[in-house]
Amino acid sequence: MKIRENIPISTLTTMRLGGNARFVIDIENVDDIKEAYAFAEDKNLPVYVLGKGANTIGHDEGFDGVILINKLRGIEILKEEGDEILLKGMGGEVWDDFVDFACEKGYSGIEAMSAIPGTLGAAPVQNIGAYGQEAAQAIEEAEAFDSLLSEIHVIKKDDMKLEYRKSIFNSGEDAGRYFIVSVTVRLKRGELKPPFYTSLQRYVDEHNETDFSPKNIRRMIKKVRANKLPDPDVEASAGSFFKNIYLSDEEVEKAKKEGILVWREHGKNLVNSGWLIEEAGLKGKVFHGMKVSDKAALILINESAKSYADLAAARAEIIKIIEDKFSYKLEQEPVEIPER
Ligand SMILES: Cc1cc2nc3c(=O)[nH]c(=O)nc-3n(C[C@H](O)[C@H](O)[C@H](O)COP(=O)(O)OP(=O)(O)OC[C@H]3O[C@@H](n4cnc5c(N)ncnc54)[C@H](O)[C@@H]3O)c2cc1C
Repeated sequence: MKIRENIPISTLTTMRLGGNARFVIDIENVDDIKEAYAFAEDKNLPVYVLGKGANTIGHDEGFDGVILINKLRGIEILKEEGDEILLKGMGGEVWDDFVDFACEKGYSGIEAMSAIPGTLGAAPVQNIGAYGQEAAQAIEEAEAFDSLLSEIHVIKKDDMKLEYRKSIFNSGEDAGRYFIVSVTVRLKRGELKPPFYTSLQRYVDEHNETDFSPKNIRRMIKKVRANKLPDPDVEASAGSFFKNIYLSDEEVEKAKKEGILVWREHGKNLVNSGWLIEEAGLKGKVFHGMKVSDKAALILINESAKSYADLAAARAEIIKIIEDKFSYKLEQEPVEIPER
């Protein structure tokens, strides 16, 4: 087990902010997990688990604790019976490699989530989703190391309480308790049927696409995303910076009267926070070195912010502008590593 000391969190996260983590341990095999938690306990330090840091922001003060980086790799077909497939991957697998594996085999169920940065192990944490699919629709179960009981056990999908950007792994009393070792998804041999999510459908129509196999949907999604979303290797960001806003049926009436555009997704009403930001004329504007992406208003790009403090100032200004104009209070989507 390799232990590194005083590592800048800015180098472990795609937003590229944050001071030093006292210790960082790469988890390369399952035995490392127990050993790493024991190391932290011995030093009386908290543990924080990271994948690729694509949804996580570090503080300027750093983290006086132990960051575990999930580097467990491997993909296995557990079952293939008729059209039903159970596909398992280790938590440190790159999510998009896992999607690619599934698509190449002709398995449908996660293809619209192609090119989401990060690891497979992080997918259930915030129940990732894109272009009309979400992890909750595919996840079957996960193996997780329970840091309270110091053992690995299986957590079934229903027990994960997966909601929009929420699960037992990041919310409630068990938040931070588990290290997700592997994730199993249930997929189907087959293909998605139109109509698709708006921007995918637009691409299909514009290019007269008729092949909706997982492999081709993946190719189209990658094209659509590349036109809109920053490549984390090139531009520092944490993806969508604000959550969308879900409305009750009563709230929809009021919103519509106020000229707010309300979407329906997975049977729910939502206001797209990116739309609010765009309507407020903030696209392309730079606040304290943080730029509101001129392609996708929900994304904040760290152009030249020097610190978490810059990000916090930018966030506060954007939230205030939106609240003053629309009376909705935006909530941040990426999580933050506590200082201790
Ligand atoms: C350009 C860009 C585009 C994006 N687009 C999308 C999108 O379309 N849809 C979407 O849903 N998200 C999107 N995101 C957000 C991000 O890709 C996802 O949240 C992804 O799941 C993060 O994976 P990660 O490995 O980087 O997680 P990290 O940022 O490392 O961790 C995220 C959270 O999960 C926890 N965690 C990570 N691994 C484990 C584990 N093994 N066990 C327990 N807890 C763990 C961490 O403690 C943290 O709380 C985007 C991000 C970027 C930068």
